[in-house]
Amino acid sequence: MSAVLLECKGLKVSFFLGEKEVHAVRGVSYHVNRNEVVAVVGESGCGKSVTQMSVMQLIQTPPGKILEGDVKFDEIQLLKDGKPATDMNKIRGNRIAMIFQEPMTSLNPVFRIGDQFVDVIRAHKKIDRKEAWKIAVKSLDAVGIPDAELRMRNYPFEMSGGMRQRVLIAFAVACEADLIIADEPTTALDVTVQAQVMELLMDVKKSHNSSIIIVTHNLGLVSRYSDRIYVMYAGKIIESGTTEDILTDPTHPYTIGLLSAVPKIEEARRDHLVPIEGAPPSLADLPDYCSFAPRCPYACDLCRSLKEPELLRKGNGDHFVACHLFGKEEKA
Ligand code: SF4
Repeated sequence: MSAVLLECKGLKVSFFLGEKEVHAVRGVSYHVNRNEVVAVVGESGCGKSVTQMSVMQLIQTPPGKILEGDVKFDEIQLLKDGKPATDMNKIRGNRIAMIFQEPMTSLNPVFRIGDQFVDVIRAHKKIDRKEAWKIAVKSLDAVGIPDAELRMRNYPFEMSGGMRQRVLIAFAVACEADLIIADEPTTALDVTVQAQVMELLMDVKKSHNSSIIIVTHNLGLVSRYSDRIYVMYAGKIIESGTTEDILTDPTHPYTIGLLSAVPKIEEARRDHLVPIEGAPPSLADLPDYCSFAPRCPYACDLCRSLKEPELLRKGNGDHFVACHLFGKEEKA
């Protein structure tokens, strides 16, 4: 059995809006090992969510289109040359579960939690309603929802945001997903509830040997939980490595900027946060040189005269950087 659970190679996705082509994902390759927590980090609009939605083949077509890329999950080819290669209904929710930022987008407001939960379980397992109900109650209990039997009779609006997010994690637990993709799972929650949801995801990972992809703009939050980090900018991965590589030896100027923007308790009184100046580029009108150059404090004529930098290995490990000045050595 391969150690790699999910492998995505050369994924390209665009959105066609009138005359414009928005290059949302521009040749993204990454992998997730079994029983691993991987964070995909970047600002809004950098393509991190579109990448995961494309892996799940949930991109609305049109206007979106997967142009290129291969995706393999547990030796099953999901996508080949940008085309579906398997019946995703057998994979989605069952082997790969996705949790979104706002649980209300996944929960139907007019049906009770229990009815929705039972339907989800029965869509993936050939069991009767009574048995599915039992699994649902057990799963709600496992994610720390008190009075699970009573909560099954609630409508989504009768629960708090944190509680609804727990319900979605319970869906993934009940379906025994091998991979959970959590897209900004804590963004809409209070800070204390954020930590609880992250801890819960880690408990699920431990008890079910699941792998987890956390998609987030919050590098500070995920760095406590992830094994490896991919940093995305303007539809590309611009740095990747172990969490230790990224935290102790951030190399791409954008990653350094992201880390400088994370509040640190010990420095809270002394230092101001350092924001990254400027805004991300339009993905419909990208330069053919480094897309970070307009915001990069180190940008020079060389950066603007060469093609966009490729990911290159830094050192002997799995630390990769796409920068002409700071990322050198072996090709990824
Ligand atoms: Fe900055 Fe140049 Fe590196 Fe781009 S290639 S990140 S502009 S130093």
